Amino acid sequence: MNIITRFAPSPTGYLHLGNIRVALYSWLFARKSKGKFFLRIEDTDIKRCNKKYIDNILYLLDWLGLYWDNKIYFQSENIDLYNYYIDILLKNNLAYKCYCNCERLIEVRKKCIFNNKKPKYDGYCRNKNLNYKNSKYVIRYKNFIKGNVKFNDLIFGNLNIKNKELDDFVIRRSNGLPTYNFCVVIDDNNMLITHIIRGSEHLNNTPKQINLLKSLNFKIPKYIHLPIILDKFKKKLSKRNNSFNVNNFINNGYLPQTLINYLLKLGINNNNLEVNDIKKLINIFNFNYINKSPCIINKKKIILINKYYINNISYNNLIYYIKPFFLKKKININNINNLYEIFFIILNRIYFLYEIVDFYILINRNFKLDLNILNKFNLNLDIITKYFIKKFNNLNLWSIQNIKYIIKNYINNNNLKSKYVYSFLRYILIGYKYGIDLFKLIFILKKEKVLLKLNNFYRI
Ligand code: GLU
Repeated sequence: MNIITRFAPSPTGYLHLGNIRVALYSWLFARKSKGKFFLRIEDTDIKRCNKKYIDNILYLLDWLGLYWDNKIYFQSENIDLYNYYIDILLKNNLAYKCYCNCERLIEVRKKCIFNNKKPKYDGYCRNKNLNYKNSKYVIRYKNFIKGNVKFNDLIFGNLNIKNKELDDFVIRRSNGLPTYNFCVVIDDNNMLITHIIRGSEHLNNTPKQINLLKSLNFKIPKYIHLPIILDKFKKKLSKRNNSFNVNNFINNGYLPQTLINYLLKLGINNNNLEVNDIKKLINIFNFNYINKSPCIINKKKIILINKYYINNISYNNLIYYIKPFFLKKKININNINNLYEIFFIILNRIYFLYEIVDFYILINRNFKLDLNILNKFNLNLDIITKYFIKKFNNLNLWSIQNIKYIIKNYINNNNLKSKYVYSFLRYILIGYKYGIDLFKLIFILKKEKVLLKLNNFYRI
């Protein structure tokens, strides 16, 4: 079988971790099976859809490296096709026009709730074959009354739903636009989707979609519903409340590898999967490992994975990902001559990409030396500075070891307290007395800059 999966986001908000997990698993399953992965934008709910969300979906998939095959499908471009099938259903008495107004539907709902029943449409217009002119109506699907909908979900197992629990759901709104459950069925069939991978919040929709598929004589695909993701307060992630919005991860200095790695391991039963190599994870990834209970996000774990990847990605990749962070601060990364040294010094200390920029700014900022602070050092500052200017000037190999040797040697020979000399040098180099390893700092600032700072001090 030629496997075809799809990612079908509705552009009604920014994607959260749960959404991109669906994209990742659909992409991965297609790629592993040498099949196809399609992108479909479900944009028929015109009131809630927005172009900025579509742009953002494309940006995020690109950031994650989840490239899709073929052109992008937009449901809004398919309205004629949906109407074509709605006409077929109407003609075959598998759908009908419903003229019930809001007030009536509210009454029906109240009655169900009063009788302790699940709210559903009571079928008032179902067999009346109504056709009024100039009155608003919706089209409802004539659901099966008897029997059950049985299907197997790769994660949730065998499911069996009584048809009498489902109602005659709306397939076209009174504004003429078809609804989600209807469009999905037409598109999945039209796009030859073999495996539907989506969040388990859609489990309730699946029996409705299967019935529609049956009524239209379409092939029923395989279903894989991923367990819901909860935040630490056990609240569902939602586009509406912006929690775990993927853009926030990007802006806060996470790498795509981090999210991919975390999501691949989320909800997986097998402890042996604690590997950090993405290729390995991809190879052993299997839906059978996924647990059907909800997964709770562990932010601390994501942060630790990010630290791991910041330390382990290639220099070129790192440059690629931190470029926007420098740009945000109006710094052109191409003008930085000690980036490699900066990476070398701080990568194993940081958790987020933006810390690289913060560090760069910290060691390069303009600052004024404060005489009150200088006077408190209790050292002969002029002599020390002059000595180091000479020594550093003559130093051919600018290495941490040589820098360390010069400074330590001077301190020992002159019986000084290293603490004071270190903080004095730090202070004239970056304006802070503490916080950064002095030898590494001198090393990354490089000879020219260090001499400039020492000379500047010497002149005041
Ligand atoms: N558009 C739906 C959503 O964003 C997905 C529908 C589906 O995968 O069937 O949740």
